[in-house]
Amino acid sequence: MLHQVWGVEANLTPLVGEQDLNILAIGEQDYVLKVMRVGCESDFVDMQCRAFDHIRENVPSVPVPAIIKTKTGELYTTAPDENGVPRIVWLMQKMTGKTYAKWRPHSSDLLQDVGANLGAMDKALASFEHPFLQRSFKWNLTESIWISNEADVIVDPIRRRLIEEIVLDFRAVKPSLDMLPNVAIHNDLNDYNILVDGDIDTTARISGIVDLGDMCASPRICDLAIAGAYMVLDHPDPELALCALVTGYHATYPLNADEIDMIWPLLRMRLAVSIVNSTLMAMENPADPYVVISQRPAWEFLHGNRVNGGLIGARLRAACDLPVTKYASEILSWLDNERGKFAPILGVDLSAAPMVSLAVERSTTPENPFEITANEATEIGSECAPEDGIWLGYYGEPRLIYTDQAFRNGRWKASDRRTVHLGIDGFARAGTMVHTPLLATVEFTDNRTGYLDYGGMVILRHQTSAKQVFFTLYGHLDPASIAGLEVGQSIQKGDSFARLGDPSVNGGWNPHIHFQLAQDTGGMGHDWPGVANPDEMFFWRKYCPNPAALMNLPDEYTAYVPTDKSEIQKERTSKFGNNLKLSYADPVMFLRGWKHHMFDEWGRPYLDSYNNVPHVGHAHPRIQAVAADQLKRMNSNTRYLHPAQIAFADKILEKMPKTLSVCYFVNSGTEANELALLLARAHSGGKDMITPDHGYHGNTTGAISISAYKFNAKGGMGQPDWVQVVDVADDYRGQFRREDPDRAAKYASLVGDAIDAVDARGGVLAGFIAETFPSVGGQIIPPKGYLAAVYRRIRAAGGVCIADEVQTGLGRLGDFYFAFEEQEVVPDIVVLGKPIGNGHPLGVLVTTREIADSFDQGPEYFSTFGGSTLSCRMGKEVLDIVDHENLMENARIMGGELLDGLHKLYDKYDIIGDVRGYGLFIGVELVESKASRKAGTLIANYVINRMRENRILMGSEGQFDNVLKIRPPLTIDLDGVEMILTVLDQVLEEAVIRLG
Ligand code: PMP
Repeated sequence: MLHQVWGVEANLTPLVGEQDLNILAIGEQDYVLKVMRVGCESDFVDMQCRAFDHIRENVPSVPVPAIIKTKTGELYTTAPDENGVPRIVWLMQKMTGKTYAKWRPHSSDLLQDVGANLGAMDKALASFEHPFLQRSFKWNLTESIWISNEADVIVDPIRRRLIEEIVLDFRAVKPSLDMLPNVAIHNDLNDYNILVDGDIDTTARISGIVDLGDMCASPRICDLAIAGAYMVLDHPDPELALCALVTGYHATYPLNADEIDMIWPLLRMRLAVSIVNSTLMAMENPADPYVVISQRPAWEFLHGNRVNGGLIGARLRAACDLPVTKYASEILSWLDNERGKFAPILGVDLSAAPMVSLAVERSTTPENPFEITANEATEIGSECAPEDGIWLGYYGEPRLIYTDQAFRNGRWKASDRRTVHLGIDGFARAGTMVHTPLLATVEFTDNRTGYLDYGGMVILRHQTSAKQVFFTLYGHLDPASIAGLEVGQSIQKGDSFARLGDPSVNGGWNPHIHFQLAQDTGGMGHDWPGVANPDEMFFWRKYCPNPAALMNLPDEYTAYVPTDKSEIQKERTSKFGNNLKLSYADPVMFLRGWKHHMFDEWGRPYLDSYNNVPHVGHAHPRIQAVAADQLKRMNSNTRYLHPAQIAFADKILEKMPKTLSVCYFVNSGTEANELALLLARAHSGGKDMITPDHGYHGNTTGAISISAYKFNAKGGMGQPDWVQVVDVADDYRGQFRREDPDRAAKYASLVGDAIDAVDARGGVLAGFIAETFPSVGGQIIPPKGYLAAVYRRIRAAGGVCIADEVQTGLGRLGDFYFAFEEQEVVPDIVVLGKPIGNGHPLGVLVTTREIADSFDQGPEYFSTFGGSTLSCRMGKEVLDIVDHENLMENARIMGGELLDGLHKLYDKYDIIGDVRGYGLFIGVELVESKASRKAGTLIANYVINRMRENRILMGSEGQFDNVLKIRPPLTIDLDGVEMILTVLDQVLEEAVIRLG
């Protein structure tokens, strides 16, 4: 038939379909052949064909399938089936992409794209007419009240009540809905009717909208609400999802505020219709379990209360940049007009009261951003506050003082948290009287006795001169002072109604008032959030605006403006060289850290899973203390005696093999490697060096010369003639692999060839330098016995063996303090770097007395800052902390957990080629497939960026930049490990979807 009617040659495969027969036809082009159910009305097919054509003509940007006309120019045809019954048959283009249901992630960008396409399609459909649209239809939301007669089929009383509630809410908006024009709408934009496409390195886009089988005439807002009903169901943040969908729609087909207010009741009604309908079907087909299973997500969503129904309308209005409530703009301009005329809430003029910042970037309280101490809370702000008198805290200020679990939005320490202050604080002595700025009615009083809660609190109701209602909230009051307040009681402008509480009754805080304004209490009830998620400020700034006017202050005075990240980026581009690289397309600005977490300017927490510089954790109190202590005394160099030099040296030597007994203190790993080169040459009398490929030892001329990663890089200086490069002992990707039992010896024998090459060029060997476990080369663990065999050859040729332990030393490996222990060798020189200073610039070289003596034959060696008193004390402290806090053991345990979890992911994903490492030095090599081992460079790039979007900092390394490097501060805990494994699992799944 395909051939006869359409002139198409294709291979046919049946597709799933509810009532009709759908057949995939793969030929020169791909089509879907639709064979309609027996008795299907031709008008029904005609409507769909014409609607698709109408959309394609009017908005070519919306990807709907082309209808392929028959050779005689018909939209469809009729043919008898095998029983001789006539069936309507039509052919359409097959759209590319995967169903939205199977696509991950359902990002805000993608949801906006769904909304934008739906808006554009609805705009086109508004001018589409067809007689079939006028049919009566149970899925037309305007007719959905039918479910109220069938609600009895829901047996469970709680569930039935929920359905009844939804119907009631629907009835409330029905009159407004009836005022809207009925136009052609899709009416079923569910997640199987949307197709998505995107490669590993491209943004995901909607590639198809299919199935117009549920079209009917209804208000356009029903189309959006129905799409919304599907988009929110399984989304981790349904409010965010709905905002994204609606803003996308609004951008292509602007909505008005009344329509937006209908979305939530219509959305819930659609879910109720689905539930009631499928329950009825289940009664007809009791044997079909699918009907009931399919209800589960809808019930879970409706019961889950993950959307604040009272606020969602306001939230969606704010997202579309419309007034957040009906009178929001009027109330704001009235307040602005009255500014200066309100009664002072603390009884005195505040125009001279100073602002004190508690912002992430300005304040160092709390020291631990995951747990404010009682002392910090009672003293908050005092360090900057005036001796006496009132001072104020900012509106819109991101703060880290909200450490309770209640402020966290998700299961991890690095999950979203609410940080941005929605009121203004007035800090004053406990007992200070609180006055109402204007005539008020008491709306609510309470005593919130939880630690760090409000203590006594009051909500007052007010009116503008035009009788528009708004509310104010007063927190941290003395509960005794408000015990007599009655709800409904009115308070005259300027009258006092409360006293500030002291820390024993105000939640434990330094005495102050939290003063907040709200356009409405709808949805918040009496539980107003006092702080908000920075990513939701588009809404909260409008719903709980800056209350400065009510304090007779200018908004600008009390509004906090954090340093603008984009401004810093611009300045940086103009003031620094361009090869000073920034991480991520959208760079991050970090202002605080604690252990293995970092915080950006909005207080958003990130898990730091690969920065090995803060070895004992960011902002370690002992490191702060030792640095401050030494800087109070003096800071000088190694030309003078100081006990700290000896203490530091003793501490390092205690960890080293006995033969390594002489220390040199320098400023960096680079400087230590430069020195290592000098020592090797002094001791051997040679110049030539041998080093594995892809190694990195530093950024100076000498260090680059022995760093293949640098001199071989694009635009690099090339390989010096005195350097021989050998293959890195990578037994996953290199020439000798794990299945070869002799691979260690074979890789080591390449060093023999290199020694021959030194001889051949008439050179003299100075030594061999290698990262014991190559890190930039791709977190490589050489086979056992490799270094021992290499060292034997090097020493036999008169060379010195240098182990660069910058990345691997100091307990990171869990089982070994240094990586050379795992290789069962004792190097002649060991180089230590960045982790040893925990952020303070510090490098150390340790060698034998013999080599030190050879070096002593030359000129004096001196490094001004190397081994400064401060450095010695800090380095010693880092090593002590590793011991005292059992961090090597922690690395072993947490590293074990991580590796176990990563091995499970290895079994699950064909794109993980290898998992390797010890303790907290881990590499995960991503590949196109296990069989091909082709480097998954783009996959790694995708993973790194998505990890960052999920608040995990992770790097990639290796010659193909396809190895995920995981090497967090040694403080990492189970929360961090589980977060890495859970998020990585999700992100790998996303990558697989894109690759498939
Ligand atoms: N050696 C290795 C193995 C390194 O990883 C690094 C720095 N990443 C260095 C040396 C150089 O250290 P620095 O940046 O402190 O000079």
